[in-house]
Amino acid sequence: MRTRTVDFGAVRDDLGDRCFICELVAGSPDFAHHVVYEDEHAVAFLNRYPALYGYVLVAPRQHREHVTSDFTRDEYLGLQRVVHCVGEAIRRVVPTERLYILSLGSRQGNRHVHWHLAPLPPGLPFEQQQLAALDTNVCLDLSDAELAELAQKLREAIKASAAEPYAIDDEPRLEEA
Ligand SMILES: [Zn+2]
Repeated sequence: MRTRTVDFGAVRDDLGDRCFICELVAGSPDFAHHVVYEDEHAVAFLNRYPALYGYVLVAPRQHREHVTSDFTRDEYLGLQRVVHCVGEAIRRVVPTERLYILSLGSRQGNRHVHWHLAPLPPGLPFEQQQLAALDTNVCLDLSDAELAELAQKLREAIKASAAEPYAIDDEPRLEEA
């Protein structure tokens, strides 16, 4: 696959004080992404700078910054339901040895809470796995048509996954004392 080097410092300078996820949600053309899922609370879209093929970001539509304390438990678990659904779709569409899920963020660059869903392809040597697979300024150079095709496959898989019944009760419950 073709790759390109990204100057993330320049990306941050260009962004300035704006929040790229709020801009995306507001429909700002400069921040258009390939959206693979959205509902009233969440949006999931292809990473514009994917270190791995099939890399998706999931975020709340509202601007929240702290990954746990800015959410009620139900809001948080609702977002994790989307993360699970999108993760399963990625695993079905893209060869995945292991699906990485993490939330990072920085007050200097990307404050809006989001989860990274990044599928590790099979066969990478151990030294290139885990954080080494993500901590890079080399990203895949995918054309808009290639991204659109990937997004379409993910949207279809998400629809199929969302239609499946959950194996456990929908409502989370604490163990009774
Ligand atoms: Zn925001």
